[in-house]
Amino acid sequence: MLNFDPTQANSRLWGDVVKNLNPYIPGEQPKHANLCKLNTNENPFPPSPKVAEAIAQAISNQAENLRLYPAPESDELRATLANVYQLDKNQIFVGNGSDEVLAHIFACFFVKNLPVLTPEIGYSFYPVYADTFGINLKKVALKQDFSIDINDYNQPNSGIIFANPNAPTGILLDLENIKILLKNNPNSVVVVDEAYIDFAENPSSAISLIHEFDNLIVSQTFSKSRSLAGLRVGMAFANPSLIEALNRYKNSFNSYPIDRLAQAGAVASLQDTVYFQDCCQKVIALRQALVKNLTDLGFDVLPSQANFVFAKPPSQYGETKQVFEKLREQGVIVRHFNSTKIADYLRITIGTQAQNQRLINVLREFVPL
Ligand SMILES: *Cc1c(COP(=O)(O)O)cnc(C)c1O
Repeated sequence: MLNFDPTQANSRLWGDVVKNLNPYIPGEQPKHANLCKLNTNENPFPPSPKVAEAIAQAISNQAENLRLYPAPESDELRATLANVYQLDKNQIFVGNGSDEVLAHIFACFFVKNLPVLTPEIGYSFYPVYADTFGINLKKVALKQDFSIDINDYNQPNSGIIFANPNAPTGILLDLENIKILLKNNPNSVVVVDEAYIDFAENPSSAISLIHEFDNLIVSQTFSKSRSLAGLRVGMAFANPSLIEALNRYKNSFNSYPIDRLAQAGAVASLQDTVYFQDCCQKVIALRQALVKNLTDLGFDVLPSQANFVFAKPPSQYGETKQVFEKLREQGVIVRHFNSTKIADYLRITIGTQAQNQRLINVLREFVPL
């Protein structure tokens, strides 16, 4: 292979935009066998078997196969989403993963004069998009317990974005607070990134509020609760005029973000409601068990409504970074963020029963309690 160090690249041929980019670094995807991979919040269960059937069907269909471009507006997928979420098709936008949908949202609604507000601890892709589009992203401190105080968002802004449940804390902001936030900021687009909402114990989605608030966008994804991170499908729900802005932007960028196989697979996933609900329930039960086991070991676990927990090891384990590295040596991969305020915590994805048990067993060996 050509010997090339990407960190040393600084081509005289590059444009200014790319010179100043600061890309997001995803959690690692190690390839070794027998790893216990609890670092990127993927679902531990496979997608509905109907997904693979629908994709096989889409490949073998003689009349409509991969020779042809996909439906540019993903009509069948949007119609199926409309049916599941009791909305109109024109309240729905779909993209190549919710990361792409979020990038379009930044481009469409946040390139304005005032800063965009976001919790200081949140999804680390937001600052990357802000950089990409030259947006002034202002980080707002969380409360001592890592929850969001909506009163801190009563300051000039041209937009607000946060994950709910928040990442990487797992903490959920309730709908009453979201309503007040929307009322207090009527001239800003407020984006609620619900990548993990299906793992909440009670129905907590803000989707129903899009009828009442024309400044709300809710984004969701097939990557976590529908076990389809590899398919790349995400969506946004909002009133038709915000959706129209996203359509215009999409059609000025890539008319076909969702390929035929992804559209077919996503539709099949939505149609298998029983499988989906069962899968979410299993993850919730596994989370409750893992929280108990970690707490018994002396971990301080934040109250999570997501498919991961954010937990601080007890002091006798030493530095959290070392716990992370020792787990890694044992083949258990979790996520550690170096930033000061959360450096004491580990983000641990909820795995299968066997994976969670392996994590606990390895931790037990560190410190015989
Ligand atoms: C995983 C995640 C996403 C991205 O999901 P994709 O649909 O896979 O692009 C967006 N927001 C948050 C908070 C996430 O954790």
